[in-house]
Amino acid sequence: MILVDVHCHLDHEYFKDKLDEVLKRAKEAGIRAIITQGVNHESNEKLLELAKKDPIIKPAMGLYPLDPPNVKLSTEDPFMSRSKVSVDKTLAFIEKNKNNIIAIGEVGMDFKFSDDEEPQAENFKKIIDLARKIKKPLIIHSRKAEKSVIDLLEDAKFFNADMHCFSGKKSQLKRGADLGLFFSIPTNVTRSDQFQSNVSHLPMANILTETDAPWLSPYPGKMNEPAFIKEAVEKIAEIKKLTAEEAANQIFQNYQKLFL
Ligand SMILES: [Zn+2]
Repeated sequence: MILVDVHCHLDHEYFKDKLDEVLKRAKEAGIRAIITQGVNHESNEKLLELAKKDPIIKPAMGLYPLDPPNVKLSTEDPFMSRSKVSVDKTLAFIEKNKNNIIAIGEVGMDFKFSDDEEPQAENFKKIIDLARKIKKPLIIHSRKAEKSVIDLLEDAKFFNADMHCFSGKKSQLKRGADLGLFFSIPTNVTRSDQFQSNVSHLPMANILTETDAPWLSPYPGKMNEPAFIKEAVEKIAEIKKLTAEEAANQIFQNYQKLFL
């Protein structure tokens, strides 16, 4: 099977001393591409080194909505890493590296840990403009901000995007699919009602696969890695009444359409 992981954090500490084995297992499972996300300037800077390790690693540079200094947080998110670098400087660096990246991500808006909506929207608009300018797709985080994110994409008429881990309402899912957005289904679809429901309501032509590794493992208590995409594809195939091979081929075509 030909598999792709369009959203992963290979720069996470968890992978530090096991990257070689993780990549080996990914290749054995059939993975052709692992899009690893930058979340702010500090993390974007490190990605190019990581990508040199193996051509299967495709870097995306981004700015996690909760990281820039101009966004106030309402609750502490244990996963975020605040950046000291301004949004403009972060985006200038991404632009400078446009030939080294496959996409802009992880970007978007998050109203769970911040109700500071205005600066988040301003930052996201700048990011959409940059994506258009450098002709790269977006990989979008939209936790509790699904409607606002799709509103901004629609205002900008920019639909070259993947919605990662989409947990919005069915009406927003349908709206996004009608606009031509892609939705990457995470590996924990094997045990998540939300993602199983997303799969059943989305056309195959809008579906991609992701791990968000090391998070969202299909196995409770175990860390996630790209090789587990296989489990997601099998679940998607079961819901869509396809063979795993058919589902994988369609997802690979979708990957080529959005990213290549
Ligand atoms: Zn992520």
